Amino acid sequence: MAECTDPHGDGLVEDIPELSDGDDDVDDDEEQWQWMEEEDSQPVTCLFCDRLLSTVPATLQHCTAEHQVNLVDVVRKHSLGDYGYIKMINFIRSTKCSSSCLMGLPDGPLPWESEDFLRPVLQDDPLLQIDLEELCDSEGTCSSTCSSSRAESYDVLLHRSQAAEERARCSEEALARAMEDLHKLKLLAQGLVLNAETSKPGNLGTVAELREDEDEAYFSSYGHYGIHEEMLKDKVRTESYRDFMYSNGEMFRDKVVLDVGCGTGILSMFAARAGAKKVIAVDQSSIIYQAMDIVRSNQLEDKITLIKGRIEDVSLPVEKVDIIISEWMGYFLLFESMLDSVLYARDLYLADGGSVYPDLCNISLTAVGDELKHQDRIAFWDDVYGFNMACMKKAVVPEAVVEVVKADTLISEPAVIQTFDCNSVSLSELEFAADFSLKMTNTTNCTAIVGYFDIFFDKGCSNKVMFSTGPHVTKTHWKQTVFLLEKPVPVQAGEELEGKITVRKNKKDPRSLFVTLNIRERKQTYSLQ
Ligand code: SAH
Repeated sequence: MAECTDPHGDGLVEDIPELSDGDDDVDDDEEQWQWMEEEDSQPVTCLFCDRLLSTVPATLQHCTAEHQVNLVDVVRKHSLGDYGYIKMINFIRSTKCSSSCLMGLPDGPLPWESEDFLRPVLQDDPLLQIDLEELCDSEGTCSSTCSSSRAESYDVLLHRSQAAEERARCSEEALARAMEDLHKLKLLAQGLVLNAETSKPGNLGTVAELREDEDEAYFSSYGHYGIHEEMLKDKVRTESYRDFMYSNGEMFRDKVVLDVGCGTGILSMFAARAGAKKVIAVDQSSIIYQAMDIVRSNQLEDKITLIKGRIEDVSLPVEKVDIIISEWMGYFLLFESMLDSVLYARDLYLADGGSVYPDLCNISLTAVGDELKHQDRIAFWDDVYGFNMACMKKAVVPEAVVEVVKADTLISEPAVIQTFDCNSVSLSELEFAADFSLKMTNTTNCTAIVGYFDIFFDKGCSNKVMFSTGPHVTKTHWKQTVFLLEKPVPVQAGEELEGKITVRKNKKDPRSLFVTLNIRERKQTYSLQ
C-alpha cells in the first residue's frame, strides 16, 4: 500500500491503493477490480442523481447506462491527469452539473481548472480514490479494439495538444502570480525594515497578519517550477546531496528518512535509491503535487510518502526517523530561516543516534577590492547628470547584494566566522556575534566584505562530501553575499583587518536578516531581503 497525502490541500492523510507496475495482463485486471470491490464497500453516490451504488465499478456502469456518461471517455477526451480527474469529480458534485452539460462542454478551458476543486465535496468520496491510470488501462484494451480509427486518434492528439496549450497558459499565469507575490513580499519586507525601530505595540495585530501573508508568499514562490529548475540545475548543490547518499548507501539501508521541504522530491528519491526503507517527504508548497506525480513516475510510491503541510503542522505516520535530510540553506546560509524548521523536526522526530544531513556548515568572510564596482554603485550618486544624489547612498549601502564576486577582486584570505553543527545547534545560536580578522594579501582599498558558506556531509560517513559557495570555486545559485563599505578602507598586504559581525533576524520578518559589520570604528547594518 502506498501512502499519498492530501491531494486536496486539506491537511488530511489519506491512503490510496497501490499502483500497478504497468503490466496489463488478465491477472492484474482482475486484481484491480478486486481491490475496487474490496475498498469500495462504502456506498457511492452517483454523480448525476441521488442513487447510492454499492461499488465504484457499479457507479461507473450506472453513469454509462443511465446518464450516457462514460467517465473514462470523458477523462480521455479532456486528457485529464489525476488532479484534473479529481477536480472534475468535485466540480460535478459541487455545481450539480448535469450529464448533458458535461458531455456538451465546448472546446477550450475546462470549468474545473480552479484549484478550489481539489477540495472534496463528499467526505471520503470513493470516486476520488480510484486509480485513474489503471482504470483507463483496463478500459483501454476494450476501446482500442472497438475503435481504433485514424480519425479518432487524430481527435485524441488534438485534444492532448489543446490540453497541453492550456497547461502552458496556466503555468504562465502561475509564474506571473509568483512574481507578483515576490514583488509584494519585497515591498512588505522593505516597509518592515524601514519601520523596524519605530513600531508601536498597537501594530502587532497587523504585523501578525502580514507575517501570515509573507509565509503564504514564501510558499507560493516555491510552487512555481522555475525556482526548482534553478536548484536542480545547480549541479554543485544537487550532486553533493546525491553523492553523499549514493556513496554512503550503508547509512541509508533499511532506514526511515525524513525529507524536510522536499520540493520536487529529488532528495527523497536519492534516499530511496540509496536503500532507505521508507522516506517521508514534507512540503507546504503546492510543488508537492508535482512531487506526487514524479514519485509515481519513478515507481517509488511504495517507499516515499508525501505529506503536504508545514513540518511544524503535519503529523507524521511514524514516531521517529533515523535520518533527516533537507536543503534548507538560503543566501548567506541563514536567509529564509528554514533551518528553524529543520531543528524543529530534529527535536521532535529524530531517533536517538540519528543524524541530520548536511550536518556541518561554516559561514566565511573575505575582503574585496573592486574600485570600479564601488564607483558604479556608490560614487555614481555623487554626480548624476550634473546633480548631487549622494543621499541615495544611504539607501544603496544597507542592502546586501547577492551576486557572483570575481575571484581576482579578492584581497584577503578567507576567515570562518561561524560553524554550526545541525545535530546540536539550538535556535537561539542562529543569531550570533563574532569577531573576525582578515589577513590582507594586497595593498589597496577594501571596498566590500563578501560572505558565503560551506556545507559538509560528515557525521559517520565513510565517504564524506562537502561543497563551498565561495568565490574561488564553481558558482552556485547562492552566489555570494556582498556588503559594500560606504567609504573604502585602505589596507596593507600582510595586515590583519579586524572587525566584528552581528547576525540577527528581523523581528518583524523572521525570514530576513540584519547583518551588522564593525570595521575600523565604522558600523553599518545591512538587510538581506
Ligand atoms: N528538497 C528540494 C527543495 C528545496 S527548497 C530540493 O533539494 O530540490 C526548500 C523547500 O522547502 C521548498 O519547497 C519549501 O516550500 C519547503 N519548505 C520550507 N519551509 C518548510 C516548512 N516549514 N514546512 C514544509 N516545507 C517547507
